[in-house]
Parts: sequence; C-alpha cells; structure tokens
Amino acid sequence: MGSSDLVTGATVAVLLPHLKPTFVFLNTKVAQLTFLGFNRVMATVGDVFALIRDHRDVTRTEIGQLTGLSRTAVASRIGALTALGLVTEREQAPSTGGRPPTLLSFDAAAGVVVSVAVGISRTRLAVCNLAGEVLTITDIDQEVALGPDDLMPDVIKRLDVMLQDYPGDTVYGVGLSLPGTVDRERGYSRDSLILRGWDRVELRPYFQELERLSGVPVILDNDSNAIAVVEKQGHDDVLVIKASSGLGAGIVAGGVLQRGATEAAGEFGHNKIAAAQGLPCRCGDTGCVEAIAGGWAVVHALQQQGRTVRNLRDVVELAHGGDAEARRMIRDSGRYVGEVLAAAVNMLNPAVVVVAGDMADAFEIFVAGLRETLYGNATAQATRTLEVVPAAHGNRAGTVGGAMMVLDEVLSARAVDALAAPA
Ligand SMILES: [Zn+2]
Repeated sequence: MGSSDLVTGATVAVLLPHLKPTFVFLNTKVAQLTFLGFNRVMATVGDVFALIRDHRDVTRTEIGQLTGLSRTAVASRIGALTALGLVTEREQAPSTGGRPPTLLSFDAAAGVVVSVAVGISRTRLAVCNLAGEVLTITDIDQEVALGPDDLMPDVIKRLDVMLQDYPGDTVYGVGLSLPGTVDRERGYSRDSLILRGWDRVELRPYFQELERLSGVPVILDNDSNAIAVVEKQGHDDVLVIKASSGLGAGIVAGGVLQRGATEAAGEFGHNKIAAAQGLPCRCGDTGCVEAIAGGWAVVHALQQQGRTVRNLRDVVELAHGGDAEARRMIRDSGRYVGEVLAAAVNMLNPAVVVVAGDMADAFEIFVAGLRETLYGNATAQATRTLEVVPAAHGNRAGTVGGAMMVLDEVLSARAVDALAAPA
C-alpha cells in the first residue's frame, strides 16, 4: 500500500486549505486510493455524506477534488443524498463577478434520535436532532434505583408522548447509556455492582414495543463512555470523570476510547482508599472510594445528620446556598476522587481531566478538593500542563453523548450506503 499510506489530513489541508482539516473521510483506505487517482474503489454515497457532514459547507467541485469522482458521479451521489433528505443545497451570497457555486450542507433537521441516560437517582430522556442538539428533554427522578421492569415501561410511555411533537420525523436510532459495564452486542447490563436486577436483562425489546421505535437501532454503552464521546474537548488524551451518585471514568488515549479487555475500563468507583476503610459500599464490599465520595454516600451522610436531602442535586443546591457542611462534603468528595485519579494521571498522562455528572454543577467546590490531592499525588511531569475543566455540555453531557453515540453509527458511511441502496 506504500505511498497511499502517506496521504494524511495534513497533505490534503495543504492542497485545500480552506476546508477544515478533520478528514475522517480521508482516513479510509478507499478515499486514500481515490484521492491518489487509483480509481479502483470509488467513493460511495456514504463516503460523500461523511465528507459533507464533517465539513459545514462544501461545493460540488470540492467534493470532486477530495474524492477524485467525476462531475457526473458527484451529481448522482448528491442526488441520492438530497432524496434521503440528509443534504441540502443552497446558493451562496452573490459576490462580484460570475455566479458562485452552490453550497452543500448536512441537514440536521432531516430526522431525530432518542437519547436515554439511565442513572441511579435520575433517568434523562431526550429527543435530539441529527447534529445531537437537544430538542426536548425530560427527567424521571427516582428515590431508589428501579429495576428494568419498573423503569423501562415508564421510559417508553414518556418517549411515546415526547415523539408526538415530531410526528413526521424519521427516528434514526436510540442511544442508551447505563452506569457500570454493559454488553453492547446483546444490549444488557453485565456484572453491574450497582444496577440490581438489570444484569442480562435484554433492553432492546422494550423499545420495540413502541411503534415509532420498532426496528430502529438501539446503541448501548456505559454512561461515562457516552460522555467521553462528546467531551474530548479537542484533545487525544483525556480522562472524563462522571461524578454523580456513582463514580466512573471514560478514558480516551491516543484519540481512541479505551474500553479495556472486558469493557470495564474506567470503573474506578470501587478502588479502595484508606479514608473509606470499613465503610460499607453498595457493591457489597467495604472501603471503596464511592463509599465516602460517591453522591449516594454524601447524601447518606447528610441524611444521617438529619438533613432533608434526596439526592446529590439537593446537596449541590445547598452548597450554592452557602451551606458549610454541604460545601465541605463536596470538596472532600473531590479530594478523595483526586487521590484515586492521581494514579490514572501518572499512568495515562492526559492533557485534560473533564468533570461531568451532577458534581460538575458544583465544579469550583469539587475541583478545589480534587486539585489538592491530584497535584499532590501525581508526578510533576504528568501534571505540568494538565487542565481540569467542567464538561462543555454541562449536566447534559450524558444526553448529548448518547445521541452522538447513535448518530455516529446510524449516519456512518456504511449506514448511509445501506439507506441509499435501492430496496
Ligand atoms: Zn464498592
């Protein structure tokens, strides 16, 4: 394959400097071959779509240049994409001299996806457009973690109501995230330390019961991984912490989400720490960092003091209202999390630690504690340029992540090829 391997985004960026150099499309072997003029394999409808979705606006000529396709071939692929409603073409603002070429862009309003983020104290449902932007969002607050037969029928009923606001829209897919390890293929929670009664209960059949979602792909992943999909913040090496009722992390190393050998990477909530010694954890063991720093433990400790708090969000509200005890407990939670995180930072040397989950709503307080132990315990080399930042999507990171997770699948070049293929 020799020279074609040398074609990189950078090469193309030099040739077509006005295009944003993301080039997901040109990282495929097919595209590299066509780009070099080896028209052995031609860019498909899906490949052209990937290019348009990746760049905001692009002209037919640019598509021809990027893919090596003839004008006629470009036209037929654009025709297929406009017929699917995924691409729109519009006139540019007139400039002096000659008629400007039309611009092709991805139509994010061509359909919707559904995002379901199952949590311990809250399950969040959303309808999003094809760019992953939230159109409608609703929460199911749970006093205690519910089993699938209690929660899922409620989820489906609410989705039915939410989707009635989008009567004509094709639902492209469902992104479903859960805490703990999941079997993505079979679509269930696996060996969960937390979600009692969910292990090995197939979740896709629940969605099939709703006509609008029948036959629609349901993509399942761990909650922290879903957040990591949209919280890389432009970096290739990132640790995304979900600090909510439970604790978990999404690990991106070298630009790739790391799932681990058994999909259990990032499950740091049950790391043992000295400060939690003897404290019972909801996983059945004692001494876990969650047992002292997880949202559920913080809530429990405050309830023991006679305070009326139902969940971590109540604690965060108290902290913002100036409650000294709530502030101390959130800062301490950050301190314990930082202690465990220091080892991960030494191992992985991330550029950024992103804090997501309900604790992110008290970012300054939580991170004051986290910085203390993180910088105190990790090496200077690993922390010299390390940044700790809040999730860009705030407390909607899991929702947007769930939507993007399914969009990357249902709008992939391969999936769009299948949509465009004559039945
Ligand atoms: Zn535990």
